[in-house]
Amino acid sequence: MAGAFSLIACHDCGLLHRERPLPDGGAAKCTRCGAVLYKARRNSLDRTLMLSLAALIFFVLANVYPFMTFKMEGRAQASTLITGVMELYEADLWPLAVVVFCGSILLPLVKVLSMLAVLLPLKLGRRPRHLAAAFRLVEILQPWAMMEVYLLGVFVAYVKLIELATIELGVALYSFVALIVLLAAADAALDPRVVWQRLGAAPRVARLPARWRTTLVGCHACDLVSRLRRPPKGGHMHCPRCGTALHRRKTNSLARTWALVLTATILYIPANLFPIMTVISFGKGAPDTILSGVKHLIEGGMWPLALLVFFASITVPVLKLIGLGYLLISVQRKSQWRPRDRTRLYRITEAVGRWSMIDIFMISILVALVKLGSIATIEPGVGATSFAAVVIITMIAAMSFDPRLIWDNMESEYERTTPRAA
Ligand SMILES: [Zn+2]
Ligand SMILES: [Zn+2]
Repeated sequence: MAGAFSLIACHDCGLLHRERPLPDGGAAKCTRCGAVLYKARRNSLDRTLMLSLAALIFFVLANVYPFMTFKMEGRAQASTLITGVMELYEADLWPLAVVVFCGSILLPLVKVLSMLAVLLPLKLGRRPRHLAAAFRLVEILQPWAMMEVYLLGVFVAYVKLIELATIELGVALYSFVALIVLLAAADAALDPRVVWQRLGAAPRVARLPARWRTTLVGCHACDLVSRLRRPPKGGHMHCPRCGTALHRRKTNSLARTWALVLTATILYIPANLFPIMTVISFGKGAPDTILSGVKHLIEGGMWPLALLVFFASITVPVLKLIGLGYLLISVQRKSQWRPRDRTRLYRITEAVGRWSMIDIFMISILVALVKLGSIATIEPGVGATSFAAVVIITMIAAMSFDPRLIWDNMESEYERTTPRAA
């Protein structure tokens, strides 16, 4: 079909574009809001497969060998990746144990395995039924596998401890760094469009019939643009390629995001009032809140680190809550003001949230390493649980906000080409 093209809908504003071939390394951006629509990557599947296989090897090494060893007063305490999780669990802070376990071990593993479960069969020219579900899982897990945030937590813990004891870095720590680099490279090499195209090509059209324009909707998971038809009674229409329920906009986006933002705001109070951990040194203990932890870093002359922790633990959650609140109000008031900047604000809000977990991971490392009875022990505190809840709830809040609502309030051609209700 000469001049045929596929359609792609912008994730952030919903505008439809014609797909065009790109030069290698090029990126296509949304003409309206500036979001990256897709990038061109050479040998995407082969490179991603190799990098994922290498990542799996380093994942095993990172979990088998000792991570760090803490030496003080002639005694040594070695820890592995899982030790911090077990210590949190034994301190009756199991929600925190679950969070650290998922972010640093379980979800990275599931991500690597599901990536392999998709790429290996494709490489062998097979297409078993589970592929679309496995690949959706890879994309869903993306924000929740937080190894690079964990590594920063390791760094903060290391700097805090190096003053009072000798710290030896283990094989697992180096493997963990290699794992992060490999997974980042795998993410950069992966072109999701190629995978989805192998799973089911997008229909190509020569011309867009005018009556179609009003009923086209992009799939959240695989970006396939389909024609929205009347769904079966009480049900949803599902994406023909990946099976995700199709909605023109995320359902009840405003109400859900509001509820989550308010919950997180309330939890933010105990998160700052209660201690996140208690450092007991030679029999004397002093509880630390998030803010007093930052204060100690400043007193120790560790300015850059103090700034980092302050930014991640205090500035980011507050700005996120304010930013989301502002976006919600601006959509409800049908604001026409700078939609492009508001979409950018949304993108930043969504991207930075996970970095607030630094303090939580740091605590899990400290409690795993420093348990030398009366000489030095660090115990986790309940403030940490509330804080982890704040971070997770704000992440979910950002995900449930639909940035396309910002654009629904703008008139122009978009108004005429999009139906009012799905
Ligand atoms: Zn856009
Ligand atoms: Zn889909």
